[in-house]
This record gives sequence, C-alpha cells and structure tokens, in this order.
Amino acid sequence: MRTLLPVLFGLALLSSCRLPVGKTAQVPRKAVFILLDGIPADVIEQVPTPMLDEIAKAGGYARAHVGGDLGGRTETPTISAPGYMSLLTGTWANKHNVWNNYNQSPNYAYWNVFRIVESVDPSRKTALFSTWLDNRTVLVGEGRPGAGDFRLDHTADGFERDTVAFPHDPASRYIQAIDERVASEAAAYIAANGPDLTWVYLEHTDDVAHARGDGDAFHTSVREADARVGRIWAAVKQRQALGEDWMIVVTTDHGRDARTGRGHGGQSERERTTWIVTNQSRLGARFTSGASAIVDITPSILQHLRIAVPTAVSREMDGVSFLQSRAR
Ligand SMILES: [Zn+2]
Repeated sequence: MRTLLPVLFGLALLSSCRLPVGKTAQVPRKAVFILLDGIPADVIEQVPTPMLDEIAKAGGYARAHVGGDLGGRTETPTISAPGYMSLLTGTWANKHNVWNNYNQSPNYAYWNVFRIVESVDPSRKTALFSTWLDNRTVLVGEGRPGAGDFRLDHTADGFERDTVAFPHDPASRYIQAIDERVASEAAAYIAANGPDLTWVYLEHTDDVAHARGDGDAFHTSVREADARVGRIWAAVKQRQALGEDWMIVVTTDHGRDARTGRGHGGQSERERTTWIVTNQSRLGARFTSGASAIVDITPSILQHLRIAVPTAVSREMDGVSFLQSRAR
C-alpha cells in the first residue's frame, strides 16, 4: 500500500489540475478551413505533404467523398463551385442549386456557415481569403439581401482581376502568385487577429492538373500547396499558444478523371474520392471509416464553435458532424 501512496497522490494532483481546464466555455473556440482545389485522394497520399502530415498527427486524415448519392436525388457534379457550395451549406446541389462554375442561381434558403455564425452570434469575427472572387460575392453571397445581407469582418480576394499586379500568362503562373498572396495574408491575419471563422481557398493545383494532367508538375503544385497550408498552420499554432482552441480542416472539392487527370465533373470513383485532414482528435467512426462527405465539414465546424444552429437550418443539412459528440 505504501508504494501506492505517491501514485495516488500524483493522481489526486492530476485530477485537481484538470479542474480549470474543464471550464472550456471560457476558452475561445476558433476554426479555419482550407480548400485546395482538385487533388484526388491517391495523389495527396502519394506526394510528400509534411505540413498536412503534421496536422493529421494531431488529429487525423481520412478519405471522404463529394458528388452526393451516386445515381440518387442528391447526385452533384464533381465541379468546383458545386463542391464549395456543398462545403459551405452542408447540402448537395439539389438544394443549394449550384451546378456549375458560372451563371449561377444559388438557393440561399440553405444558409452557409458564415451566415449561420453571423446570425446566431454577430460578435464572432469572420474572414475569407480566396483566389476566386465569386466565392464571396456569389456563393457566400455577402451583402446580398436574399442571402441574409451580412458582411464578413475581413476579406482578401479579387486579385485575379488585378492584371497589373498579377499579369495573366497562359501557363497560369499568376494564379500561383495569387495563391502565395492569399496564403500569406491569411497567415498574417490569423496570427495577428485570431478570427473566429476563416475560409482560405487556393486554386493553383487544379489549374496545373487541367493543363498538364497527372505527373510531376501536378505533384510539385501539391507540395507548394502543402507549404502554404504550413504557413497558416504555423499561425494557428501561435494562436493556440495564447490559449485559444482551434480547429483546422483541410480538404479538396473533387478528384480527377482516372485516364489523364486533366478532367473532372463526372461520377467516377476517382472524381468522387476526396480526403479531409484535421487537427481534431475526437473523431467519430464516420470520419475514421472514410464515410465522411464534404457536406459534413460545416456541421463539424459549427459543433466545434458551439454554435446553436437554428432548427429550420440544421434539419435541412445533408451532412452530419464527424466529431464525436460532446462528453458533457
Ligand atoms: Zn475544383
């Protein structure tokens, strides 16, 4: 018994130390999601991505899917904007009504994650960094009366329209430069301000694959994207050191065709098979078994942020959180 005493004393100390940590309501909860365009699961698994690996070591990596139910009512093209909108709203295209990249008529009745957060708790700070302007002006629908007429607290996008700072070249190297700018701004802003909810969208990987298909050039662009994620992850770690509780999610919007890797849009297995990386370690079986879908990301983020989603909104969501339900 005597030998057990120090152990018991140690345990008592440990449990008493836990008490203040248990008061998690006091800890600011934040989330950032990063979308790297058009990287199939087999490519992200093949190419060295040390930054994604570091995030996954804290939480997890799993395959996931886009495209809705194959052959069913919710089947959604494996195209960029429909994918982003599925992520943002937690619904498939039969609801959000974004079927292609242009000439869109989004159905804003299905609220996106920014509208939900801004509506439920206007004190939370939101930010968006994007290599494609339409993500904010069309899909999120910032400032549109039909989309809730809300404003994000900070944005950095539209650089693709600045042909002086980013002269357009046929090889789309300007998109690479814009991705650099977007990632730099996101990392700096997160480090300095710690916004509550942030979206970072990086495009260059998809452009390279469309132009060159599977192979070294595409793989190089994936490694560069990983390095950009690393800068944002470093900013998140700085904020965590200040006592904030951060969730980071990195994902893609679609895979690519199996023959050349240049195309996407169809319902083949490689086009539908995606992946999700997160630093969250309390992952449910849906995540670890590879059954998660892009529509699960918004419910997961809202769970982490402890946002009480209005029932009329949550009951329309096709996705469910991939985090384990709260212990308390
Ligand atoms: Zn895409």
